[in-house]
Amino acid sequence: MNLRPEEISSIIKDQIKNYKSHLEAEQVGTVITVGDGIARVHGLEKAMSGELLEFPGEVYGMAQNLEEDNIGVVLLGSDQNIKEGDTVKSTGRVVEVPVGDALSGRVVNALGQPIDGKGPISTDKFRPVERVASGVIDRKSVDTPLQTGLKAIDAMVPIGRGQRELIIGDRQTGKTAIAIDTIINQKGKDCLCIYVAIGQKASTIAQLVNALEKADAMSYTTIVVATASEPAPLQYLAPYAGVTIGEEWMEQGKDVLIVYDDLSKHAVAYRTMSLLLHRPPGREAYPGDVFYLHSRLLERAARLSDELGGGSITALPIIETQAGDISAYIPTNVISITDGQIFLETELFNAGVRPAVNPGLSVSRVGGAAQIKAMKQVAGPIRTELAQYRSLAAFAQFGSDLDAATKNALAQGERITEILKQPQYAPLDVSKQVIILYAATRKFLMDVPLSEVARFQSELFEFVETKYAEVLDEVKQPAGLTKELDAKLNDIVTEFKQGFKA
Ligand code: ATP
Ligand code: MG
Repeated sequence: MNLRPEEISSIIKDQIKNYKSHLEAEQVGTVITVGDGIARVHGLEKAMSGELLEFPGEVYGMAQNLEEDNIGVVLLGSDQNIKEGDTVKSTGRVVEVPVGDALSGRVVNALGQPIDGKGPISTDKFRPVERVASGVIDRKSVDTPLQTGLKAIDAMVPIGRGQRELIIGDRQTGKTAIAIDTIINQKGKDCLCIYVAIGQKASTIAQLVNALEKADAMSYTTIVVATASEPAPLQYLAPYAGVTIGEEWMEQGKDVLIVYDDLSKHAVAYRTMSLLLHRPPGREAYPGDVFYLHSRLLERAARLSDELGGGSITALPIIETQAGDISAYIPTNVISITDGQIFLETELFNAGVRPAVNPGLSVSRVGGAAQIKAMKQVAGPIRTELAQYRSLAAFAQFGSDLDAATKNALAQGERITEILKQPQYAPLDVSKQVIILYAATRKFLMDVPLSEVARFQSELFEFVETKYAEVLDEVKQPAGLTKELDAKLNDIVTEFKQGFKA
């Protein structure tokens, strides 16, 4: 190899020149226009998409539209004190949030700053909010249940760790209630929880934090909040901030549950932001990349392979429908990205069937693999029995002469519906769920009047706990309902029933 001195000197000169420009990494631009939380900035040609830019008065913005002669920046704070001609500094960083165990038990905003008055968050680790999701090779299939503690869901639409299950329904149908009960049910189950509140009232969130504290669930829960009164960019960022906090734990091999309440409001915030940035509106005025908005978020839920620690993020996104229309734009998008949906119905909710899960339209495409064996065995017939009941019930309204088989199917359907009802904040352990579902599907309830079914359930639990507490553990074993266990449960319920006075 022969080196020519003039070549070397030119390389060195080049490097010295570049070294100088490294020192000038902090680029400065000027504000051209500002308003509606959006600033147009000139002179920051090298800004990256999503880069954090600093405005005067410690206000930060996020570079969005990178155009030839200016960039569109969404402000992550108030635009009141920003005016034309102000200088804007690039930071060379994208938006980051603090991560780590210090976030457990805290309420933070979309930038990870604490808003619960419990002092600063002591962590020195930060992660960028946007990140490519783990690939196929990095994942393994869902095989561990994530129990919600709600009979209607654990029996009919089971959820596994690493799964994405959509909760969808009209307003006031108990969507949030399901998510909160699921969080409460994770107590002592080695699963950290994150609840992302998007576009809700601050008072609603205060109530929710209270409820979680009362249920002793705040210690393992992080709440990320962007209220309705906060600028659209913060509402847009909140779910990404939430999943970023979760990813840190997932990569440590932990299990994480994350709730996005709700993605309809998230889409609306993104639409607002995009329209203000003058991006072209598409269907329903949403920008063309609104599918990517949610797909890149939900794709970050995963069950990592054992080599990567085996951690997981289970996502429960929530979508609000209008008049039960699940075929609208945003609902269909999110349905197609998730592994199933829990469809809540206003009619059922108003008829007192709560949680108002529609058994026909609710599905879980992967969770069945994660159900414990005994649950799979007892819950098998429930969906068909309910579906049968519903079609018969509609039909039976017209006729009074029903044959015995129809009457039986109706009575059984009514009892299963009754059993699947559950009050709020009272998640049930899976072994108790198995026992009551066993009693129901083996037709022990047929001669119990409907109004007594709830009492039958609570007294049966009491009976089992005092006299046969060991079966609560036995039904959870991998062998499931063996012949012996089946016979034992049969004897227990029969014995209980003899003492039960309707
Ligand atoms: P929104 O559309 O306003 O967000 P939502 O669909 O999230 O409403 P929730 O706020 O969860 O609905 O519930 C609506 C109301 O129903 C609340 O007052 C809640 O306490 C009540 N509720 C929810 N689930 C149950 C239940 N299983 N039993 C009794 N009441 C319930
Ligand atoms: Mg809600």
